Amino acid sequence: MLLQREPVPEPASPRQNRSEYMIYADNAATTKISATAEKTLVAVLRDFWGNPSSLYTLGQQAKEKLEEARKTVAEVIGADPREIIFTSGGSEADNQAIRSAAEAGKLKGKKHIVSSAFEHHAVLHTLERLKKEGFEVTLLPVHEDGRVRPEEVRGALREDTCLVTVMYANNEIGTVQPVREIADICREKGILFHTDAVQAVGHLPVNAGEDHFDMLSASAHKFHGPKGVGFLYVRKGIRLVPLIEGGAQEMGKRAGTENLASVAAMAAALKEAAEGMQENAQRLTALRNRLMDGLSAIPHSALNGDAEHRLPGNVNFCFEGIEGESLLLLLDDRGIAASSGSACTSGSLEPSHVLLAIGRPHDVAHGSLRLSIGEDLTEEDADYIIRSVSEVVAYLRSFSPIWRDLEAGKKPHLL
Ligand SMILES: *Cc1c(COP(=O)(O)O)cnc(C)c1O
Repeated sequence: MLLQREPVPEPASPRQNRSEYMIYADNAATTKISATAEKTLVAVLRDFWGNPSSLYTLGQQAKEKLEEARKTVAEVIGADPREIIFTSGGSEADNQAIRSAAEAGKLKGKKHIVSSAFEHHAVLHTLERLKKEGFEVTLLPVHEDGRVRPEEVRGALREDTCLVTVMYANNEIGTVQPVREIADICREKGILFHTDAVQAVGHLPVNAGEDHFDMLSASAHKFHGPKGVGFLYVRKGIRLVPLIEGGAQEMGKRAGTENLASVAAMAAALKEAAEGMQENAQRLTALRNRLMDGLSAIPHSALNGDAEHRLPGNVNFCFEGIEGESLLLLLDDRGIAASSGSACTSGSLEPSHVLLAIGRPHDVAHGSLRLSIGEDLTEEDADYIIRSVSEVVAYLRSFSPIWRDLEAGKKPHLL
């Protein structure tokens, strides 16, 4: 098949003169560090290098910086500073939240956890591990619109349920979950509720206190902070179990000398994100809708997840008769960095568990594309993306045996 490959037509890119990726549309994977966060990172690394646990001035200055960052983070998400634990990122926060709730449950003989089928692997794999330790896990179905139903959460609760964990917004299809309703149901039943809010914090208004979350995970590199740092919000009175034992840092809940520069940079990035949130969300939503309109004109394509209840910057489509990886590589040739939920990107042959969870058949799920756009995208960029994806999809279909069968009527079109 590859021998028949013709050079793909190259339209002029609006960002031809950029040396790096001309258009970065993979912000759900990671974001570029903001100028403010970068400045803070370097300055704190250089000027506040003392150990926050040391009693002399140099140490205490570092300690002050650390607590200043904790206060900033707490303010942005509507929490008390004592409710914020700094971690190495979203994965660690998810692991610690779930493990802590499981440990507390076990002590009371409650070993049942409710979650959803399309959580991030940091949640799903932690739950898998707990199953091996004797816990029972109910994974709620996700409907075609990419959302979990609060009534179904209620229906899944049992006498021995110790935790419900449902993500705030999905990292692949961007759908925002009814987490407030779920939190209220859990509160009513006296069951802990954790939300993986890694895709939401910095992008959507999140108020941990008012929204009745018991625990919430976030990660700096998803809101223009540095990688390898995040935080866990834990409501006062909930006991956390440390994953890392050692010193008494982070109120004894997370040992190890603090990653102060990264923590301070995270706080700076979060503050900046909160300040620009409304304006950015409005702009991104308009661009996202422009992309969704443009891409839906491609025949036999479908948007994954609800069009309304989704992150401002997330666009996710399936295109019948193609492989997502080929699409990505050809888009890369055109200077567009995007992602697909299938095979190569995730290092497995299975299509995305998220797309399967919302009911996409295997064949269709393989032809997916996620564009997660950032604040620097322009309308011109969006139009260039639409043009490029349309042309590359048509090109890939021109020599796809699956597409040939579909067009010849040997297999029915699913989209
Ligand atoms: C990125 C991401 C994580 C993992 O965060 P890291 O900081 O990379 O460990 C967890 N959950 C969701 C929803 C994510 O998007």
